[in-house]
Amino acid sequence: MNNIYNLTIEDLENYFLSIGEKKFKALQLYSWLYEKKVNSFDLMSDVKKTVIERLKTDFSIEHLKLVKVERDTEVNKYLFELYDGSFVESVLMRHDYGTSICVSSQVGCNMGCSFCESGRLKKVRDLALAELVGQVICVSKYEQVRIDSIVVMGIGEPFDNFENIKRFIKVVTDPKMINIGQRHLTISTCGLVPKIYEFADLETGVNLAISLHAPNNEIRDKIMKVNHGFKIEKVMEALDYYIKKTNRRVTIEYIMLEGINDSDKCAHELVNLVKGKLMYVNLIPYNETTHFELKRSNDFKIKSFYDILKSNDINVTIRKEMGGNLSAACGQLRANSERL
Ligand code: SF4
Repeated sequence: MNNIYNLTIEDLENYFLSIGEKKFKALQLYSWLYEKKVNSFDLMSDVKKTVIERLKTDFSIEHLKLVKVERDTEVNKYLFELYDGSFVESVLMRHDYGTSICVSSQVGCNMGCSFCESGRLKKVRDLALAELVGQVICVSKYEQVRIDSIVVMGIGEPFDNFENIKRFIKVVTDPKMINIGQRHLTISTCGLVPKIYEFADLETGVNLAISLHAPNNEIRDKIMKVNHGFKIEKVMEALDYYIKKTNRRVTIEYIMLEGINDSDKCAHELVNLVKGKLMYVNLIPYNETTHFELKRSNDFKIKSFYDILKSNDINVTIRKEMGGNLSAACGQLRANSERL
Protein backbone atom coordinates (compact mmCIF):
# COMPACT_ATOMS: atom_id res chain seq x y z
CA MET A 1 0.00 0.00 0.00
CA ASN A 2 1.26 3.48 -0.82
CA ASN A 3 2.79 5.23 2.20
CA ILE A 4 1.24 8.65 2.80
CA TYR A 5 4.73 10.12 3.18
CA ASN A 6 5.18 9.44 -0.55
CA LEU A 7 2.83 12.35 -1.28
CA THR A 8 3.77 15.95 -1.91
CA ILE A 9 1.44 18.79 -1.00
CA GLU A 10 -0.12 18.79 -4.50
CA ASP A 11 -0.65 15.04 -4.33
CA LEU A 12 -2.43 15.32 -0.98
CA GLU A 13 -4.63 18.18 -2.16
CA ASN A 14 -5.55 16.27 -5.30
CA TYR A 15 -6.30 13.22 -3.20
CA PHE A 16 -8.64 15.25 -0.98
CA LEU A 17 -10.43 16.55 -4.09
CA SER A 18 -10.70 12.99 -5.41
CA ILE A 19 -12.50 11.83 -2.28
CA GLY A 20 -14.95 14.73 -2.42
CA GLU A 21 -13.28 16.86 0.27
CA LYS A 22 -12.15 20.47 -0.04
CA LYS A 23 -8.47 20.59 -0.89
CA PHE A 24 -7.62 22.97 1.98
CA LYS A 25 -8.68 20.18 4.35
CA ALA A 26 -5.39 18.50 3.42
CA LEU A 27 -3.80 21.18 5.59
CA GLN A 28 -5.08 19.40 8.68
CA LEU A 29 -2.82 16.50 7.93
CA TYR A 30 0.45 18.37 7.67
CA SER A 31 0.97 19.12 11.32
CA TRP A 32 0.13 15.50 12.20
CA LEU A 33 2.55 14.13 9.65
CA TYR A 34 5.44 16.58 9.80
CA GLU A 35 5.20 18.34 13.17
CA LYS A 36 3.76 15.72 15.48
CA LYS A 37 5.18 13.00 13.23
CA VAL A 38 2.47 10.47 14.10
CA ASN A 39 2.54 6.95 12.70
CA SER A 40 -1.16 6.19 13.08
CA PHE A 41 -4.14 7.82 11.36
CA ASP A 42 -6.21 7.21 14.50
CA LEU A 43 -4.15 9.81 16.38
CA MET A 44 -5.35 12.59 14.05
CA SER A 45 -8.01 13.72 16.45
CA ASP A 46 -9.27 16.76 14.51
CA VAL A 47 -9.68 14.94 11.19
CA LYS A 48 -13.18 13.70 10.28
CA LYS A 49 -13.83 10.03 11.08
CA THR A 50 -14.93 9.31 7.50
CA VAL A 51 -11.71 10.82 6.14
CA ILE A 52 -9.63 8.81 8.63
CA GLU A 53 -11.32 5.60 7.50
CA ARG A 54 -10.72 6.48 3.87
CA LEU A 55 -7.06 7.31 4.55
CA LYS A 56 -6.63 3.97 6.30
CA THR A 57 -7.99 2.20 3.24
CA ASP A 58 -5.82 4.06 0.79
CA PHE A 59 -2.49 4.57 2.57
CA SER A 60 -0.07 3.16 5.08
CA ILE A 61 1.62 5.57 7.50
CA GLU A 62 4.46 3.48 8.96
CA HIS A 63 7.74 5.18 9.73
CA LEU A 64 11.08 3.61 8.89
CA LYS A 65 12.21 0.85 11.22
CA LEU A 66 15.17 2.09 13.23
CA VAL A 67 17.28 -0.92 14.10
CA LYS A 68 20.49 0.53 15.43
CA VAL A 69 21.84 3.81 16.79
CA GLU A 70 25.54 4.48 17.36
CA ARG A 71 26.65 7.57 19.21
CA ASP A 72 29.80 9.65 19.36
CA THR A 73 30.30 13.11 20.81
CA GLU A 74 29.17 15.14 17.82
CA VAL A 75 27.80 12.46 15.51
CA ASN A 76 25.14 9.77 15.69
CA LYS A 77 24.58 7.10 13.07
CA TYR A 78 21.20 5.47 12.44
CA LEU A 79 20.63 2.19 10.65
CA PHE A 80 17.17 1.71 9.13
CA GLU A 81 15.69 -1.52 7.87
CA LEU A 82 13.35 -0.98 4.93
CA TYR A 83 10.21 -2.94 4.07
CA ASP A 84 12.16 -5.26 1.72
CA GLY A 85 14.88 -6.07 4.25
CA SER A 86 17.37 -3.60 2.75
CA PHE A 87 19.33 -1.27 5.01
CA VAL A 88 20.28 2.39 4.73
CA GLU A 89 22.03 4.74 7.08
CA SER A 90 21.71 8.37 8.08
CA VAL A 91 24.03 10.51 10.15
CA LEU A 92 23.15 13.32 12.54
CA MET A 93 25.83 15.94 13.14
CA ARG A 94 25.80 18.61 15.80
CA HIS A 95 27.62 21.73 14.72
CA ASP A 96 28.00 25.04 16.53
CA TYR A 97 25.54 26.48 14.03
CA GLY A 98 22.89 23.79 14.39
CA THR A 99 21.96 20.21 13.69
CA SER A 100 22.35 18.66 10.30
CA ILE A 101 21.44 15.28 8.88
CA CYS A 102 23.12 13.38 6.07
CA VAL A 103 20.53 11.37 4.16
CA SER A 104 20.99 8.33 1.90
CA SER A 105 19.30 8.31 -1.49
CA GLN A 106 19.63 4.71 -2.71
CA VAL A 107 20.19 1.19 -1.41
CA GLY A 108 23.76 0.72 -2.63
CA CYS A 109 25.30 2.74 -5.44
CA ASN A 110 26.35 2.00 -9.00
CA MET A 111 28.85 4.81 -9.39
CA GLY A 112 31.77 2.71 -8.18
CA CYS A 113 34.07 5.43 -6.82
CA SER A 114 37.25 3.64 -5.84
CA PHE A 115 37.54 5.18 -2.37
CA CYS A 116 33.94 4.70 -1.27
CA GLU A 117 32.73 2.13 1.22
CA SER A 118 29.12 3.09 0.57
CA GLY A 119 29.43 2.04 -3.05
CA ARG A 120 30.79 -1.42 -2.33
CA LEU A 121 27.19 -2.61 -2.40
CA LYS A 122 25.90 -2.21 -5.95
CA LYS A 123 22.63 -0.35 -6.30
CA VAL A 124 19.67 -2.48 -5.27
CA ARG A 125 17.06 0.22 -5.76
CA ASP A 126 16.22 3.88 -5.40
CA LEU A 127 14.71 5.10 -2.15
CA ALA A 128 11.08 6.19 -2.35
CA LEU A 129 10.09 9.67 -1.22
CA ALA A 130 8.71 8.22 2.04
CA GLU A 131 12.09 6.62 2.69
CA LEU A 132 13.99 9.83 1.97
CA VAL A 133 11.71 11.98 4.08
CA GLY A 134 11.41 9.15 6.60
CA GLN A 135 15.09 9.43 7.55
CA VAL A 136 14.60 13.09 8.52
CA ILE A 137 11.35 12.48 10.37
CA CYS A 138 12.57 9.43 12.30
CA VAL A 139 15.86 10.96 13.43
CA SER A 140 14.18 14.22 14.39
CA LYS A 141 11.45 12.39 16.32
CA TYR A 142 13.83 9.90 17.96
CA GLU A 143 16.21 12.61 19.15
CA GLN A 144 13.52 15.24 19.74
CA VAL A 145 15.57 17.76 17.78
CA ARG A 146 14.80 20.28 15.13
CA ILE A 147 16.87 19.53 12.01
CA ASP A 148 18.42 22.78 10.76
CA SER A 149 20.00 21.53 7.56
CA ILE A 150 20.03 18.50 5.31
CA VAL A 151 22.71 17.13 3.02
CA VAL A 152 21.89 14.35 0.58
CA MET A 153 25.35 12.85 0.65
CA GLY A 154 24.87 9.43 2.22
CA ILE A 155 24.65 6.12 0.39
CA GLY A 156 23.77 6.46 -3.29
CA GLU A 157 23.95 9.01 -6.10
CA PRO A 158 21.02 11.42 -5.61
CA PHE A 159 20.86 12.41 -9.28
CA ASP A 160 20.45 8.72 -10.16
CA ASN A 161 17.18 8.96 -8.19
CA PHE A 162 16.29 12.35 -9.63
CA GLU A 163 12.49 12.23 -9.70
CA ASN A 164 12.26 11.32 -6.02
CA ILE A 165 14.92 13.88 -5.11
CA LYS A 166 12.83 16.58 -6.83
CA ARG A 167 9.84 15.55 -4.73
CA PHE A 168 12.02 15.37 -1.63
CA ILE A 169 13.12 18.97 -2.24
CA LYS A 170 9.47 20.03 -2.40
CA VAL A 171 8.51 18.27 0.83
CA VAL A 172 11.48 19.30 2.94
CA THR A 173 11.42 22.94 1.86
CA ASP A 174 7.66 23.47 1.98
CA PRO A 175 6.80 25.69 4.97
CA LYS A 176 3.70 23.56 5.58
CA MET A 177 5.70 20.34 5.57
CA ILE A 178 9.27 19.93 6.90
CA ASN A 179 10.12 23.60 6.39
CA ILE A 180 13.88 23.57 5.87
CA GLY A 181 15.03 26.68 3.98
CA GLN A 182 16.25 25.91 0.47
CA ARG A 183 19.63 27.31 1.37
CA HIS A 184 19.91 24.75 4.16
CA LEU A 185 19.50 21.82 1.80
CA THR A 186 22.45 20.49 -0.23
CA ILE A 187 22.36 17.84 -2.91
CA SER A 188 25.66 16.20 -3.79
CA THR A 189 26.48 14.49 -7.06
CA CYS A 190 29.51 12.72 -8.44
CA GLY A 191 28.89 14.53 -11.72
CA LEU A 192 25.94 13.23 -13.74
CA VAL A 193 26.14 16.07 -16.23
CA PRO A 194 22.63 15.98 -17.81
CA LYS A 195 21.08 16.04 -14.34
CA ILE A 196 23.19 19.06 -13.32
CA TYR A 197 21.51 20.96 -16.19
CA GLU A 198 18.08 19.70 -15.13
CA PHE A 199 18.77 20.63 -11.53
CA ALA A 200 19.87 24.11 -12.60
CA ASP A 201 16.66 24.53 -14.59
CA LEU A 202 14.62 23.85 -11.44
CA GLU A 203 15.97 27.18 -10.11
CA THR A 204 15.28 26.13 -6.57
CA GLY A 205 17.93 27.86 -4.46
CA VAL A 206 18.98 24.45 -3.13
CA ASN A 207 22.76 24.05 -2.83
CA LEU A 208 24.76 21.86 -5.16
CA ALA A 209 27.96 20.02 -4.20
CA ILE A 210 30.14 18.14 -6.67
CA SER A 211 32.40 15.27 -5.72
CA LEU A 212 35.26 16.25 -8.01
CA HIS A 213 38.19 14.65 -6.16
CA ALA A 214 40.65 15.13 -9.04
CA PRO A 215 41.87 18.10 -11.06
CA ASN A 216 42.29 16.28 -14.38
CA ASN A 217 40.79 13.42 -16.36
CA GLU A 218 43.81 11.16 -15.99
CA ILE A 219 43.43 10.98 -12.21
CA ARG A 220 39.66 11.17 -12.17
CA ASP A 221 39.37 8.30 -14.64
CA LYS A 222 41.33 6.17 -12.20
CA ILE A 223 39.34 6.91 -9.06
CA MET A 224 35.83 7.72 -10.34
CA LYS A 225 34.13 5.56 -12.95
CA VAL A 226 31.64 8.32 -13.68
CA ASN A 227 34.46 10.22 -15.36
CA HIS A 228 34.51 7.68 -18.19
CA GLY A 229 31.08 8.99 -19.18
CA PHE A 230 31.34 12.63 -18.12
CA LYS A 231 34.76 14.24 -18.39
CA ILE A 232 35.84 17.09 -16.14
CA GLU A 233 35.41 19.71 -18.89
CA LYS A 234 31.77 18.68 -19.30
CA VAL A 235 31.20 18.75 -15.54
CA MET A 236 32.72 22.24 -15.32
CA GLU A 237 30.58 23.46 -18.24
CA ALA A 238 27.48 22.15 -16.50
CA LEU A 239 28.52 23.89 -13.28
CA ASP A 240 29.04 27.16 -15.16
CA TYR A 241 25.50 26.79 -16.47
CA TYR A 242 24.18 26.07 -12.96
CA ILE A 243 25.92 29.18 -11.57
CA LYS A 244 24.70 31.36 -14.41
CA LYS A 245 21.17 30.12 -13.95
CA THR A 246 20.97 30.24 -10.16
CA ASN A 247 23.76 32.58 -9.02
CA ARG A 248 24.41 30.01 -6.30
CA ARG A 249 27.87 29.05 -5.14
CA VAL A 250 28.89 25.46 -5.91
CA THR A 251 30.84 23.36 -3.41
CA ILE A 252 33.69 21.34 -4.88
CA GLU A 253 34.35 18.29 -2.71
CA TYR A 254 37.93 17.06 -2.89
CA ILE A 255 39.04 13.99 -0.91
CA MET A 256 42.76 14.09 -0.21
CA LEU A 257 44.39 10.80 -1.23
CA GLU A 258 48.07 10.27 -0.59
CA GLY A 259 50.18 10.16 -3.72
CA ILE A 260 47.14 10.31 -5.99
CA ASN A 261 45.62 13.78 -6.04
CA ASP A 262 47.52 15.71 -3.37
CA SER A 263 50.59 17.06 -5.19
CA ASP A 264 51.36 20.75 -5.62
CA LYS A 265 50.80 20.22 -9.35
CA CYS A 266 47.29 18.94 -8.62
CA ALA A 267 46.63 21.98 -6.44
CA HIS A 268 47.64 24.33 -9.27
CA GLU A 269 45.48 22.40 -11.75
CA LEU A 270 42.55 22.71 -9.38
CA VAL A 271 43.20 26.45 -9.10
CA ASN A 272 42.98 26.69 -12.90
CA LEU A 273 39.67 24.85 -12.89
CA VAL A 274 37.90 26.96 -10.29
CA LYS A 275 39.63 30.35 -10.28
CA GLY A 276 37.27 33.26 -10.84
CA LYS A 277 34.19 31.07 -10.49
CA LEU A 278 31.50 31.12 -7.85
CA MET A 279 32.92 27.98 -6.28
CA TYR A 280 34.21 26.94 -2.94
CA VAL A 281 36.58 24.01 -2.39
CA ASN A 282 36.13 21.67 0.53
CA LEU A 283 39.23 19.57 1.15
CA ILE A 284 38.31 16.31 2.87
CA PRO A 285 40.92 14.25 4.71
CA TYR A 286 40.25 10.70 3.48
CA ASN A 287 38.79 8.23 5.97
CA GLU A 288 40.87 5.13 5.51
CA THR A 289 38.99 1.85 5.54
CA THR A 290 40.09 -1.76 5.64
CA HIS A 291 38.75 -2.52 2.16
CA PHE A 292 40.82 -0.15 0.08
CA GLU A 293 44.54 0.43 -0.08
CA LEU A 294 44.16 4.15 -0.52
CA LYS A 295 45.80 6.28 2.13
CA ARG A 296 44.89 9.63 3.55
CA SER A 297 47.20 12.52 2.69
CA ASN A 298 49.24 13.61 5.69
CA ASP A 299 48.43 16.85 7.43
CA PHE A 300 51.46 18.60 5.96
CA LYS A 301 50.34 17.77 2.41
CA ILE A 302 46.78 18.86 3.10
CA LYS A 303 47.99 22.16 4.54
CA SER A 304 50.34 22.75 1.61
CA PHE A 305 47.50 22.01 -0.87
CA TYR A 306 45.27 24.37 1.07
CA ASP A 307 47.92 27.10 1.04
CA ILE A 308 48.33 26.92 -2.74
CA LEU A 309 44.58 27.33 -3.23
CA LYS A 310 44.36 30.08 -0.64
CA SER A 311 47.27 32.05 -2.10
CA ASN A 312 45.48 31.96 -5.44
CA ASP A 313 42.35 33.51 -3.89
CA ILE A 314 40.34 30.31 -3.97
CA ASN A 315 37.67 30.02 -1.33
CA VAL A 316 38.79 26.86 0.47
CA THR A 317 38.33 25.03 3.75
CA ILE A 318 39.56 21.77 5.22
CA ARG A 319 36.57 19.78 6.38
CA LYS A 320 36.43 19.17 10.09
CA GLU A 321 36.60 15.43 10.61
CA MET A 322 33.49 14.03 12.23
CA GLY A 323 32.27 10.53 12.68
CA GLY A 324 35.40 8.57 11.86
CA ASN A 325 35.02 6.46 15.02
CA LEU A 326 31.54 5.41 13.94
CA SER A 327 32.29 4.84 10.27
CA ALA A 328 29.87 7.68 9.82
CA ALA A 329 32.29 9.83 7.91
CA CYS A 330 32.14 10.65 4.25
CA GLY A 331 32.22 7.50 2.12
CA GLN A 332 31.96 5.10 5.05
CA LEU A 333 28.24 4.56 5.42
CA ARG A 334 26.84 1.05 5.21
CA ALA A 335 30.31 -0.49 5.20
CA ASN A 336 29.90 -2.12 8.57
CA SER A 337 26.20 -2.91 8.78
CA GLU A 338 27.06 -6.59 8.36
CA ARG A 339 28.24 -6.33 11.98
CA LEU A 340 24.60 -6.10 13.03
S1 SF4 B 1 31.07 8.43 -3.42
FE1 SF4 B 1 28.84 8.66 -3.70
S2 SF4 B 1 28.58 8.32 -5.89
FE2 SF4 B 1 30.61 7.49 -5.41
S3 SF4 B 1 30.22 5.29 -4.98
FE3 SF4 B 1 30.13 6.43 -3.03
S4 SF4 B 1 27.95 6.84 -2.71
FE4 SF4 B 1 28.24 6.34 -4.89
